[in-house]
Amino acid sequence: MRCLLVYPKFPKTFWSFEAVLELIDRKVTLPPLGLVTVAAMLPQEWEYELVDCNIRPVTDKEWEWADLVVCSAMVVQKEDLYGQIREAKRRGKLVAVGGPYATSVPEDMHEAGADFLVLDEGEITIPLFLEALERGETCGVFRSDGVKPDVTQTPIPRFDLYELEAYDSLSVQYSRGCPFLCEFCDIINLYGRRPRTKTPDQMMAELDTLYEMGWRRCVFMVDDNFIGNKKNAKGMLRVLQGWQEDHGYPFSFMTEASVDLALDKELMRLMVACNFESVFLGIETPDEESLNLTRKYQNIRSPLAESVDTIIRAGLRPMGGFIIGFDGEKPGAGERINDFVEETAIPTPVISMLQVLPNTALWDRYKKEGRLLVEQGGGDINNTTLTNFVTERPVDEIAKEFVQSFLTAYDANTYIDRVYRCFLKLGAPVKTRSFQGWVIPELCEIRVLLTVIVRQGILRKTRWKYWHHGLSILFRKPAVLRHYLILLAHYEHHVDFRHFVSEQIRTQLENLESQSREPAPMTMALAEKEVEKLSEEALIG
Ligand code: SF4
Repeated sequence: MRCLLVYPKFPKTFWSFEAVLELIDRKVTLPPLGLVTVAAMLPQEWEYELVDCNIRPVTDKEWEWADLVVCSAMVVQKEDLYGQIREAKRRGKLVAVGGPYATSVPEDMHEAGADFLVLDEGEITIPLFLEALERGETCGVFRSDGVKPDVTQTPIPRFDLYELEAYDSLSVQYSRGCPFLCEFCDIINLYGRRPRTKTPDQMMAELDTLYEMGWRRCVFMVDDNFIGNKKNAKGMLRVLQGWQEDHGYPFSFMTEASVDLALDKELMRLMVACNFESVFLGIETPDEESLNLTRKYQNIRSPLAESVDTIIRAGLRPMGGFIIGFDGEKPGAGERINDFVEETAIPTPVISMLQVLPNTALWDRYKKEGRLLVEQGGGDINNTTLTNFVTERPVDEIAKEFVQSFLTAYDANTYIDRVYRCFLKLGAPVKTRSFQGWVIPELCEIRVLLTVIVRQGILRKTRWKYWHHGLSILFRKPAVLRHYLILLAHYEHHVDFRHFVSEQIRTQLENLESQSREPAPMTMALAEKEVEKLSEEALIG
């Protein structure tokens, strides 16, 4: 069997980082880990080709070669997933789909024309799919009926299928599931509340494979919540610490974790010792009432700002997820988020309007309340789309706060000051490649550095801060200088994405107005003013 694995294209989002990828001569931030895991579970005597459409489209030759096309996607990739399925069917191929989007909204996959729906977790449903193929069946839906597989039996993903040079980071998965109850999150339904972890040996075997392939960059542990099972995470980290030492610290790591990480000093110490550099924290909002309503109780147990501060001082740079548009939210939510971000010095706040995902408790509630504005798959969901449900506050007020909050957080001067304040208090790394605190820069890193010096240190209005803060970090915290400069390079994406957010929201509000949902005169005036301001800044910068 010749199996073509197709990973659909993402739209432009906060995470696409095009401007930075261009500078470092890479095409995509992360690879399709799910598809190469699936490839490892399918028969190894089959032939495989992987096409990540974020790198390049599938060629005619590849379509012709394939007997079976396998796709996996998240809801944000919906549009291109539909396109790939239709193209495969137009060419008369058998199509199997799986992954989080197909599992949450199987109806959409039927509509798109897929033959096989291999849903839930592959460890259970792929064998069922293979049995059906053997029986000569040409369609079917395979589900695990609530059974969660033991991930200690999951094989090493077929990393060899990657076009390695196209990716900025690679990814591995240590655990699935999360013990918490956040109302808007689909992880609980997809993977359950009892976190299941791989064994330390299994993880080291995966890292060995990446190491042998020559990878020497960042590895993202793409767990839903890396610290869902703290005891097991610590056990794995102890082994990883030895592995990193034995191999000369070839990898830096990043991951996602709940804010209660701050309560466990030993866990943070081990993460830093293993060269974890950053962690994504789901903060959502500093408003306790909204946190309570959305069942994010773990963010209320200890003072949120103190928790973030503890994590930074331990040596982990936080990225923070923030949401505007919760029920019960009072006007000014955007400003309160900006105040929190400034107070804590989180360099990279990821601010979005609330979107209700299918397969969540929130979806069920809004459905019951008749507040969904979309059916089934949730509509087009990404960082720059208006809410897909009827909000309690006027949607134009929420959109205005979102745009203003994003523009404020990523104003050039505000950003560089915040990054500086974060790195002044950031705990130093224990060890990195080469020698304490420094690593030998790669050629592309030197090119990025020179580009950023010209743009931020000479041409833009940030020039004085650029040199002052940079020299201050060099003398006061040399161990974090390289990491600090990477964050400054990220601004080349943020400056571009600021324009994008303003334009996107403005267009959607105009459409909304013309469809006579809620007229938004106040927001339109603001958006126009902001676009004018951004155009002036673009001329300066
Ligand atoms: S902590 Fe994160 S992964 Fe866990 S339920 Fe909440 S949002 Fe989902």
